Amino acid sequence: MTKHSCVPPPRLCSVTITPLADRFGRVATDLRVSLTDRCNLRCSYCMPAEGLDWMPTDEVLTDDEVVRLLRIGVERLGIREVRFTGGEPLLRRGLPGLVAAAKALDPSPEVSLTTNGLGLARTAVALAEAGLDRVNVSLDTVRREEFLAITRRDRLHDVIAALAAARAAGLEPVKVNAVLLRGVNDAHAPELLRWCIEQGYALRFIEQMPLDAQHGWSRAAMITAEEIFASLATEFTLTPVDEDRGSAPAEEFLVDGGPARVGVIASVTRPFCGDCDRVRLTADGQVRNCLFAREESDLRTPLRSGASDEEIADRWRIAMLGKRPGHGIDDESFLQPTRPMSAIGG
Ligand code: SAM
Ligand code: SF4
Repeated sequence: MTKHSCVPPPRLCSVTITPLADRFGRVATDLRVSLTDRCNLRCSYCMPAEGLDWMPTDEVLTDDEVVRLLRIGVERLGIREVRFTGGEPLLRRGLPGLVAAAKALDPSPEVSLTTNGLGLARTAVALAEAGLDRVNVSLDTVRREEFLAITRRDRLHDVIAALAAARAAGLEPVKVNAVLLRGVNDAHAPELLRWCIEQGYALRFIEQMPLDAQHGWSRAAMITAEEIFASLATEFTLTPVDEDRGSAPAEEFLVDGGPARVGVIASVTRPFCGDCDRVRLTADGQVRNCLFAREESDLRTPLRSGASDEEIADRWRIAMLGKRPGHGIDDESFLQPTRPMSAIGG
């Protein structure tokens, strides 16, 4: 077992949990932590080809600061799941230590990772040993030219190796996240599903959301969940899975009677905001109560100016009170958040 430096000390006394409740009765227990806004791909639905102005290093939380916020989240606010994301979280050197530190909290949360997979083939075992429970790898196509067209990098082979390494390291179920773009990879959705089923990966299609830095999203151009179903139905029979979905965003379907499944996350056309149990922390220490929030609450300043754990927890709770009932993408007044997806943490 690898040793990691930022494992928190054991708790000395029990702390009362006052959860992250909002004004609509929702309670956030699932924390998405963005570890960096940097990335080594340039997916067209996320970033411009030239990349973005990255956050200055001194504004990014250190590993110890991230661990302190995780501890406050778990011990005082009832966080039960932690997902590390970004930007590309594998670019963060301290990732195995952060995973180990998160798992060492009491109660130990579920810890997962959303990644583009570049470098995962080398690190999957270390991450599994650090206690990582699961991984979601983003892969929109198994065609090399399409992968290059979408991500602007010729790295399909790395992602395929990453998926195999994750499976071999026991980070299962290995999930694949795919976004379909009209005229680019949408015609090959059934092919991607067939490949994932053959390899034993759980595929979920995600509707494209208005979170790209270039503001290129349009409702008319996005591929809707209905279109995804229609495309998959040309080759497969999909049967809705008869299970309570809870707060899970994906609608699950059995493929050709099962046991293989496919998920569709219809964030835009069938929002699931009413059941949302998520809260987000950006790499520079801002709490976002929603992907589409237009306001943020700064935890970095109090963290760096001597605030107590309970003072920080209180700020975090207050941040949840402004959570809106829904994302409002279809409202005329909808405004895309200033931060792009890569700086929020998807
Ligand atoms: N770099 C990592 C990755 O790609 O998995 C983690 C961060 S990325 C922002 C997280 C997820 O958001 C990925 O699955 C990606 O496909 C998805 N994503 C990015 N931009 C999106 C958009 N505009 N609409 C829907 N999903 C998006
Ligand atoms: Fe990078 Fe992930 Fe955005 Fe693609 S979706 S550019 S891999 S952060």
